[in-house]
Amino acid sequence: MPSAPRVRFAPSPTGYLHIGGARTALMNFLQARRHGGTFILRMEDTDRVRSTTESVQAILDGLNWLGIDWDEGPGKEGPHAPYFQTQRLDTYKKHADQLIAEGKAYRCYCTRADLDAQREATEKSGGFFKYPGTCRELKAPPPGRREDEAVIRFKMPSGDGTASFVDKALGAISKPYSDLDDWVMLRADGIPLYNFGCVIDDHLMDITLVARGQEHVNSTFPQLMLYQALGWTPPEFAHLPLILGPDREKLSKRKHPEADVMLHKRTGIMPEALNNFVIRLGWSHGNDEVITRDQMFEWFDFADVGTTSGVWNPEKLLWLNQQWMKLLPETTVAERLVPFLEAKGFSVQGDSRLVPLVRALRERARTLEEMATTASLYFRKGVTLDEKAAAKHLSGDSLGLLRKVRDGIAALPEWTVEALDGVVKSVSESSAVGMGKVAQPVRVAITGNTTSPGIGETLLLAGRDEALSRIDAALTRGG
Ligand code: GLU
Repeated sequence: MPSAPRVRFAPSPTGYLHIGGARTALMNFLQARRHGGTFILRMEDTDRVRSTTESVQAILDGLNWLGIDWDEGPGKEGPHAPYFQTQRLDTYKKHADQLIAEGKAYRCYCTRADLDAQREATEKSGGFFKYPGTCRELKAPPPGRREDEAVIRFKMPSGDGTASFVDKALGAISKPYSDLDDWVMLRADGIPLYNFGCVIDDHLMDITLVARGQEHVNSTFPQLMLYQALGWTPPEFAHLPLILGPDREKLSKRKHPEADVMLHKRTGIMPEALNNFVIRLGWSHGNDEVITRDQMFEWFDFADVGTTSGVWNPEKLLWLNQQWMKLLPETTVAERLVPFLEAKGFSVQGDSRLVPLVRALRERARTLEEMATTASLYFRKGVTLDEKAAAKHLSGDSLGLLRKVRDGIAALPEWTVEALDGVVKSVSESSAVGMGKVAQPVRVAITGNTTSPGIGETLLLAGRDEALSRIDAALTRGG
């Protein structure tokens, strides 16, 4: 039986948690949980300008909101700490020195200006620039240059070899050595480039399977060369299909605001719905659409990840969100609704109408924001009447009916949906008119319009004082 997997999510914190990153994290997390393995979070924070504390925090916040827990990493630590690449520079230096000593890497003194000029010349003549190996055989720095100014390059083995591997999602792929060049492993300031830091850490952190976005598939070849040079066995690889935006362009931070995980928190999407949506981008389980966390644990496997790009379908996300608002306990949805109402200026903490509101509104609202917008109607003081609805329902005989309902409900010792509905029913019976004829003026008086939940519920949601005051305003207005 194979040992428990050790998988990782290794974001470069440069702004916010991207949907693609969230999917990579989620899939790795599920794989670890399903097989009793370990999920590691490693910060590839080598971009000194963009990898700020805020960017790191944004990743942690996104993962926390989605409920994707890591076993080792920032805030948890573990046997392979530290989990920030900028705190591991000694480790990279040690391995780079070893590779230099073994003749598998070398210091390169070429200046950026030299390399840019060479690249430009090659590209002008229609060629593809590869580092020509200028410093490969240097034994000492050129005159006037110092070792600590040099970058360290990997020395590609000579010959006609091929780097190849079997990807769990893509199958067998390979690249001839001739397509690869002597890539930079370490900058002069000791900061590792992606391929170098990634391999050293994946190996030292005992990673057994590297699952990441398909945009990294080409990096796997130089990485494999490094495993070989160090005499290390590479992990398995799974490269996940691309995610396309609604316009079928690659989902990118620049073009697609929906690429930001936390945007969805702000617009009132449930984390359960976003996880559900994200896991379906490139993976499926039969025709199942609404998938719970437990089902994900049970069903998810990298072997079922396809190669077809996942396309963002905004309607699907809203639909899933509504399903989740109906599936989750009313109290949970109510708790999550509170900040949305507070943002609209209502202090609703502890308000007994929250759960009845959720019950009444979740059939129609697709997001917490939509629910809060509809719910605002019941927390506000007063209501703006729709002119047409008022002209039709707050005139003539209707006002008499409205007055009777007002007297009936004002006299109720306790407001419950049943008791309130009972008053409307008895007014309808005693006046010998249909229920609708009695309910509609009440509805318009309370909500300003002709659609709302059941009339008893509507009155209850407005609350006794506010409901009576709105009815009084409608009666006054109607004369
Ligand atoms: N830091 C890389 C990124 O965020 C990680 C790629 C990998 O998982 O190897 O794209």
